[in-house]
Amino acid sequence: MNQYINSNYLTFQLGRACKQCGEPIADQEHSTREFCDKYYDEYGKVYDCKTSYHRERDKPERDAQRDLINFHKEMAIRIHQLYTNRGDIVKTGDLDAFNILLTKSIEFGISENGEMTSIFMGFKIITNPLTNNHKIIQYDK
Ligand SMILES: [Zn+2]
Repeated sequence: MNQYINSNYLTFQLGRACKQCGEPIADQEHSTREFCDKYYDEYGKVYDCKTSYHRERDKPERDAQRDLINFHKEMAIRIHQLYTNRGDIVKTGDLDAFNILLTKSIEFGISENGEMTSIFMGFKIITNPLTNNHKIIQYDK
């Protein structure tokens, strides 16, 4: 808060409030202010509404990222199972049987000869569109 604002003259006509804790923000505060000032309570605990707000909002994004990583780890396990059970050349039915979804690859590309490459964690699957054979190739990152 600007020190020259006399707190006796603060008004709250605009109805602005902190986006985190809902404390009213005085009309005399800068128009872009969205949070209360960082303050310490009598026990020295810090209240930093702006930081708390952004930390909470970033969380769903971090969860989504973790879910995606877990998904690809599971996918890699299934590809590895398929690879050890059926070898490196498999049919579309084999992919289906192991619930491997080429459309859910991390990256996808088509070469000039029409071969499709689906990149997964630790594996590439090269699909020949004419024979519908899929070649599983292990790779290190
Ligand atoms: Zn606040």
